[in-house]
Amino acid sequence: MTERTLSIIKPDATRRNICGKIISMLEDAGLRVIAQKRIHLTENQAKNFYSVHSESPFYQELCEFMISGPVVVQVLEGENAINRNRDVMGATNPEQAAPGTIRKELAVSLTENSVHGSDSPENAAVEIAFFFSDTDIVG
Ligand code: ADP
Ligand code: MG
Repeated sequence: MTERTLSIIKPDATRRNICGKIISMLEDAGLRVIAQKRIHLTENQAKNFYSVHSESPFYQELCEFMISGPVVVQVLEGENAINRNRDVMGATNPEQAAPGTIRKELAVSLTENSVHGSDSPENAAVEIAFFFSDTDIVG
């Protein structure tokens, strides 16, 4: 089934100028970038985007990290795009991520783990709408 998912290239990756490398890995995994923009999140945007984690001990650190530099937000499309993206991203903790995944090969740490990906169809729809309107998504 063709799906769409929200991907974010996080500040540790934009800082190290490895967006192209990450996008290549996504493309090689069968995903297509159908909308994309480089933005600097506000504190409110970061807090709202990650509000599901607001009770987590790492929430503050995560939000500070996410506003520490620009991010690239993008909509990915493909067969089973949500799980496909999660697979190529690798485990949240790069030390536990499988070889060949983005986080294993490129992430800095558990917090600075280079990429975000939606984890369900429901969240993908909400997260895509958080950053993009229908007319932004050009295919
Ligand atoms: P994922 O991004 O794999 O879906 P989560 O939704 O659990 O992971 O967490 C969101 C983000 O919060 C992670 O990608 C990572 O940047 C950060 N994070 C998660 N767990 C921790 C932790 N225990 N300590 C610090 N940062 C964390
Ligand atoms: Mg998550």
